Amino acid sequence: MSSYRQVSGVRVLDAEHAPYAAGLLREAWGDGGPDAVPVRLVVDPALPEGGHRVDVPETGEVRLTGDPFAGLVYAARDLLARATPAGLPVGASAAAPGLPLRTLWTWDHSTNWDTRQLGQQEIGALNPYGKSADAFGADYRRLVDFCSRERIGGIVVYGLLRDAHGGVEAARDLCEYANARGVRIIAGVGINAYGGIYFDGRHRYNLATWLHHRPDLAAELPKKVGFDIDEFGDLHFPASDYMMAACPSRPENLAWHRDAIDWLLDTLPVGGINFETGDYGSCACARCADRAGGERTSWSYEAMRSVYPTLLETARRPGPAGVPLRHLVEVYWDNIFDLDAQKPLADLPDDVAYQYCVNRAFWYDQRDRLTAEHVGRLPHTTNVLRTHAGSQWNRQRHSWVPEMYADMATRSGAAGMRGLTIFAEPSAYHPTNEISYLAYARFSWNPELPWADFWRDDVAPRFGGSAEAEAFRDGAALLDDPATDAAALTAVRGDALAMVAATGGEVQRRWLWLAERAARYAHSAG
Ligand SMILES: [Zn+2]
Repeated sequence: MSSYRQVSGVRVLDAEHAPYAAGLLREAWGDGGPDAVPVRLVVDPALPEGGHRVDVPETGEVRLTGDPFAGLVYAARDLLARATPAGLPVGASAAAPGLPLRTLWTWDHSTNWDTRQLGQQEIGALNPYGKSADAFGADYRRLVDFCSRERIGGIVVYGLLRDAHGGVEAARDLCEYANARGVRIIAGVGINAYGGIYFDGRHRYNLATWLHHRPDLAAELPKKVGFDIDEFGDLHFPASDYMMAACPSRPENLAWHRDAIDWLLDTLPVGGINFETGDYGSCACARCADRAGGERTSWSYEAMRSVYPTLLETARRPGPAGVPLRHLVEVYWDNIFDLDAQKPLADLPDDVAYQYCVNRAFWYDQRDRLTAEHVGRLPHTTNVLRTHAGSQWNRQRHSWVPEMYADMATRSGAAGMRGLTIFAEPSAYHPTNEISYLAYARFSWNPELPWADFWRDDVAPRFGGSAEAEAFRDGAALLDDPATDAAALTAVRGDALAMVAATGGEVQRRWLWLAERAARYAHSAG
């Protein structure tokens, strides 16, 4: 029979290791008091990021142990979640992530987590910012809170540095907010593309500013700039300063990017960098054509080979909490099995993660090939799967895709991939996104989690029961099927409204979402 500790207040010891974690405990149980339980925070740098231990003895100090960055935040939440009306169960436990690199991917302009904002966008890769300046923090703080709560380690932000939402100061505020909560803000930067290091503004490390100053260093892009994704169709980028690109064969550009990366890491407490060299057209100048021998894709492996040794050398330094920065190098999409094409990557540094993106159809066609043997043959040790599926890029921005994320996490774990990255621009207010994100969080933490456990613990209670959750899933699937007619959508609305009448609170809110969405789609379906 288990015994319990009564907690009528806590005295947090060594709180300076994780002030936010200490605050969570004090807020829940009260600070001090005559019978306060001592809770000591212990840092163990040997633990993987997010790894933690909780030890509740019969008497004496409760000990929470975690890695220097995120583990103590997770441990504090873990302890809080154990509390029962009978008290805190005595015992010890340990937990660590199955996929250590768990990252959400976003563009600033279409990240909508404060759903009250005007100026929301839902697609685009090189857009102006449509909201007021303070919306940036309002959106991203909510996303950080979600990640901290659900144990998701990082958020890639493209457009992190932009005059329209506060530039350096707003970016710094966000990084500090996230660091305190055990979430890395990973600066999305374009090398020779995508605005450079300071995405949008009159700044010396903005790429357009640089190329207006040195037009001789610009890339020769093809006439049509954009890319093709089967599930999306042809995407054409409008001509603008945002899509200016620099020639990767010019040493002046590499020196400029190296200085810009230095400046970025001296200026902002980011948790890492998501590097990419551009995917909307390769430079066709004589030097580049000579070196690359003609690239077949809208990105260039040769450009990667030529810039990354210098840039990764510059970026190799400690980050928040003194632990090394976590960098991701984009290897683009639907090419993880094309070992020949990746040969130019073989000489790149091995101490960063290489991120391979897949689209939905490619995943379902090819996923059986993602084996430990194949992953062992990739050019580098640390490999991360990323997907456009479940996002606007596969026409699934609000789709119900928890089964797919679970499948990706499970297969990635079994094959020895080290992480999974998904898009997370829409708020978890949308129940379809919420359940998809939760599947991502649970299965990337534990790739061996049984689906039935996830359904029982995370899905069913959110819809009023297991059968109800299945009905919600089926209704949401009809929204995604372009063949669904107005009558079928109106039936979904009616069923959802019956659930609204029968439920309350957050369960009711989820059904209300489905009813409204079905009504909206029926109106347009005619
Ligand atoms: Zn060139």
